[in-house]
Amino acid sequence: MSMDIRQEQFSTERSAEIGAAWLAAVEADLDHALDLRRRIHSSPNLGGQEQATAEVIEAELSPFMSLDTIAGTGRIGRIGPADGPAVGIRAELDALPGEEATGADFASTNGAMHACGHDVHMAALVAVIRAIPELGERTGQALPTALAAVFQPREESYPSGALDIVSEKGLEKASIARMIGVHNHPGVPLGQVAMGEGYINAAADEVHITVHGRGGHGAYPHNASDPVAAVANVALSLPEIVRRTIGPMSAAVVSVGTMSVGDGAANVLPRHGSIRATVRTTSAQERKDIQAAIGTMARRIAQAYGLEADVAIIDGEPVLINDSDLARRFATQAQGLGASVASPMRSLGADDFSFFSEAVPSAMSFVGTGQPQASLHNAGYLPPERSVLDVARAMIAGYLAGAESILGSGSE
Ligand SMILES: [Zn+2]
Repeated sequence: MSMDIRQEQFSTERSAEIGAAWLAAVEADLDHALDLRRRIHSSPNLGGQEQATAEVIEAELSPFMSLDTIAGTGRIGRIGPADGPAVGIRAELDALPGEEATGADFASTNGAMHACGHDVHMAALVAVIRAIPELGERTGQALPTALAAVFQPREESYPSGALDIVSEKGLEKASIARMIGVHNHPGVPLGQVAMGEGYINAAADEVHITVHGRGGHGAYPHNASDPVAAVANVALSLPEIVRRTIGPMSAAVVSVGTMSVGDGAANVLPRHGSIRATVRTTSAQERKDIQAAIGTMARRIAQAYGLEADVAIIDGEPVLINDSDLARRFATQAQGLGASVASPMRSLGADDFSFFSEAVPSAMSFVGTGQPQASLHNAGYLPPERSVLDVARAMIAGYLAGAESILGSGSE
């Protein structure tokens, strides 16, 4: 198929027509989406136990598409053309442990809580899919390329649900060529869509360092070999690795969260000590370089004290990178659907959406709930009802951007 024919098949005009009709269909069905959001919100499931939530989603979507089980409690399925590449849209199934303190009349009472707003994402994605047949009626046109719904388990807990979906070849099986992520965010102005190119979240790795010596008596340290000073020195030196390893215009941080040495006695020099630190980096190369430098520094400091250090790095999420072309198209589409585009939300936080972005060109956006005093994961955090429509709008924009990117048409 030549590029010209493809461009005719999915022109900018057609993309705009589909987007407007799709959003109108979601708005017309909004009461159903808001009711679904409340139902999901009132019965949250923790990571790895999302079976009941997944069944609610399945029941909602069964008239429209079939979903396969993936990654334990996850669900994945396609709607639109049966063959060819799909634009995947992610919604997370899991909630967090904690007593809800939102005061909402649909608040959870089961000791778990949708404190990250995943209930909004699920309701929005269901609404977007439910509107697809209506979209055909309104425009006489079908989706130009398939939409793949990815209901992901365990975003908040380990093992990562996104990694499991990638490992189980979920993207290949659904022929997902682009992935779209939309997350609510209290720090973004209400209804606006924060979008950016390049890194959005950091790679998040853990370093576990154990320092070994012989121990001894505090009165005779010259006869001992103990790890107390070495552990303290390593802990103070780890953050310094960043500026000695990568350029100052790059974002990275090493933070020690735990150091442990000694058994409580004042006069016993211990034999072992340990450190746990989180390592946040924003490019694959810098991630490698900083990991290597941590090993070298910890071992050599230990050596200087006559001790040995074991260094283990536990790889976590990779860097979350937004594909530049896709991100630009996403922003344009969001504006076309009436959303303002906010400045990018970058942080050294991590989201396992990055396993998708590592596999296929992807774009992650944040939709504002306009609550600058609030924070995600707080027991009082509750996105307003309109966020369901705002997130759905961003998902439609993301789909259209992905379709354009796949079909090689549209303008930026
Ligand atoms: Zn979340």
